[in-house]
Amino acid sequence: MALSPSETTRLLRQLEHRPNKKLGQNFLIDGNLVEKSISMADLPSGIPVLEIGPGLGTLTQKLLSLGHAVFAVEIDRRLEKHLREELAPFVDSNQLNLLRADAVKYPTGNLPEDIDLYAVVANLPYAISSAWMEGLLGSAKLPTRMVMMLQKEAADRMLAHAGTKEFNALSIFLQSCFQSGGAHSVPGQCFYPAPSVDSVLLRMDRLPNPVAFSQEARKLVRRIFTQRRKQIGSLIKNESDENRKLMQDWLLEENLCPTIRPEKIEVAQWRTLARQIP
Ligand code: SAM
Repeated sequence: MALSPSETTRLLRQLEHRPNKKLGQNFLIDGNLVEKSISMADLPSGIPVLEIGPGLGTLTQKLLSLGHAVFAVEIDRRLEKHLREELAPFVDSNQLNLLRADAVKYPTGNLPEDIDLYAVVANLPYAISSAWMEGLLGSAKLPTRMVMMLQKEAADRMLAHAGTKEFNALSIFLQSCFQSGGAHSVPGQCFYPAPSVDSVLLRMDRLPNPVAFSQEARKLVRRIFTQRRKQIGSLIKNESDENRKLMQDWLLEENLCPTIRPEKIEVAQWRTLARQIP
C-alpha cells in the first residue's frame, strides 16, 4: 500500500531525507495508482520483477507481497539503507535483491544473465528513463513486459510514429522489440512532491519476434538521426564503404527513395537494416 502524504513526509523526516529533485524523487502516495500499476502489469504468478528506483519501497512491497522476486536498483545510499532495514526479511530470504548503483550503468541490476523470463515494473526517475531504456534494450535478455511511470514527453517519444517530430532513434529501438499495451495519464497529486511535468503509466509488451539492435546498429541509427531532415542518400555518403554498400542495398530492398529523410522511414524498415548489422 502507498504511504499517505503525511506518512511519507513523516518517514522522510525520520530518515532526515529531503526528496532530491535531480534524482527524480517523486514518491508514489496514491494507493490506487499502485493497484493500477499491478493490474496493468497483469504479471504471471512468480515472474521475477526488475524495479528501477524503489525509493521508499511502495511498489517493491506490493510486488513482494504478491510473491514476486524483486531485483531493484537504487542509486540513493540513504534510501537503499532504509529499504535494506525495512525489508530485511525479504533481503535475508533473497526474495529482494537490492543493488545500490546507477541504473544507466546497470540497467538490469543483479538480474541473472541466464534468466528466462522477467518483467519490469517501475516508477522511473524521469531524467534517466531514455538512457536506461537504451541500456536495457542492449542487454542480453529482454523483459516480457514493462509497466513504467514516465514523463509524458518521454512516453510520447517512445511510442512515436515515423513522420512525427517525436520520432527518434529510441522510438525505433524500442518499437522493434515492444508494442504498447496501453497508456494512462497520471495526475501530479499522486506523487510527493508533485512533479512539474505530466506523467504517464505505460505498458509495453515484447513482440513475438523482437529485433534487438546491436551496438553497431544503434550507433549507425543515432548518427543518421543527428541529421534527421537530410536526405538518406546524402547521409549514406558519409558512411564507411561497408555501411554505404549495406545501406544502398537496404534502400533498394525496401523500395526507399534516396531522397527520403530518416525521420520518415518506418520502424519495420529500420528493423530490416538492423537484422544485417551484427
Ligand atoms: N519507486 C518509488 C515510488 O514509486 O515511490 C520512487 C520513485 S522516484 C520517481 C525515482 C527513484 O529512482 C528514486 O528513489 C531515486 O533515488 C531513484 N534513482 C534516481 N536516479 C537513479 C539512477 N540513476 N539509478 C537508480 N536509481 C535512481
